[in-house]
Amino acid sequence: MGDEVWSLKEVCRTFDERMSHVVGHACVFCDRCSQRKPSLVLLTADAGQFFEVVKPHVAISAARRVFERCSRVSGKNCVTVLRGERRVAFLGGSCGHRLDRFVFSFSKLLLAFAACLLMSFCTLGDMVWRMTGLPIGGVVSKVASSFVLAVEEHDWALDIARRRRHGFSRRVHAWDFEVARARYVDDILWLSGRYCHAGLCRAVSLAYSVPFDIDACAAYVTWLDMELHLPDLSWRMKPSMWTLPPPWGAPKGYAHSFLCGRLQRWSEVRLSDDAWLTAATNLFLSFRDAGWPVRVIRAAVFKAGRLTRVKRDMLLTVLHVSFLH
Ligand SMILES: [Zn+2]
Repeated sequence: MGDEVWSLKEVCRTFDERMSHVVGHACVFCDRCSQRKPSLVLLTADAGQFFEVVKPHVAISAARRVFERCSRVSGKNCVTVLRGERRVAFLGGSCGHRLDRFVFSFSKLLLAFAACLLMSFCTLGDMVWRMTGLPIGGVVSKVASSFVLAVEEHDWALDIARRRRHGFSRRVHAWDFEVARARYVDDILWLSGRYCHAGLCRAVSLAYSVPFDIDACAAYVTWLDMELHLPDLSWRMKPSMWTLPPPWGAPKGYAHSFLCGRLQRWSEVRLSDDAWLTAATNLFLSFRDAGWPVRVIRAAVFKAGRLTRVKRDMLLTVLHVSFLH
């Protein structure tokens, strides 16, 4: 239900798949206002005021709808979480007492969620006051934004009559073919071949009850830690110089672990060779600026697993160029 992508690892793969549905429906005139537009239009936005403007009863009512729909679609009414070091959970299970698992019914989860959101009194010393929005921070906040935004996305995507009333979906009927969407918590990324940027802004304000801060129209957008570029729809890492500790202040093996973490992330984003080299250059320049000797970073490159010989040679070349400057 909704546009959410649950895992950062899956973001690019999922959005690539969703983009493939809209690319074939691209046109150079907006379907809504008939103005000329680029063939593909990107939009990013975030609901910066989500927790201030959403009231607890709205989030609880959204949660009830999600549980009801989940129950109807799956035929289950509880969630099982297995005990153990790795978190394993699945829909369904039997509510009998078992030592190796916890079983939560949807009705109890809804009550627990409501209880968390309705605890609105805060204290500081002898002062007590009441919050009007939702509690911020922790897993409950993420759950609340998932419920509320997912329900609104679901309603907008299914209600073709409502979309038509506002000038959308006149030629293509499925919202998935008009706009590819992804949301990570409250950050949204949209790509459309049918509408201009102003049209997409209007759709955001209609689909969601929460105000979104929308970024200006551009040939590329920054979303999470990445950039998505038109016209070839290629992903790059957001350019950033890392603030790294100096070698004398870092734990043993720091350079190796940090490099492996970055290599893993770059492979999830499926960067082109050019984008991969740019990201590697920024990383090595950050190590250099933090005072790391080139031999330590070279050793980390040799130790990094799952690198092809070609990629390793590319990394070593970039490393030496970065440290020469
Ligand atoms: Zn338009």
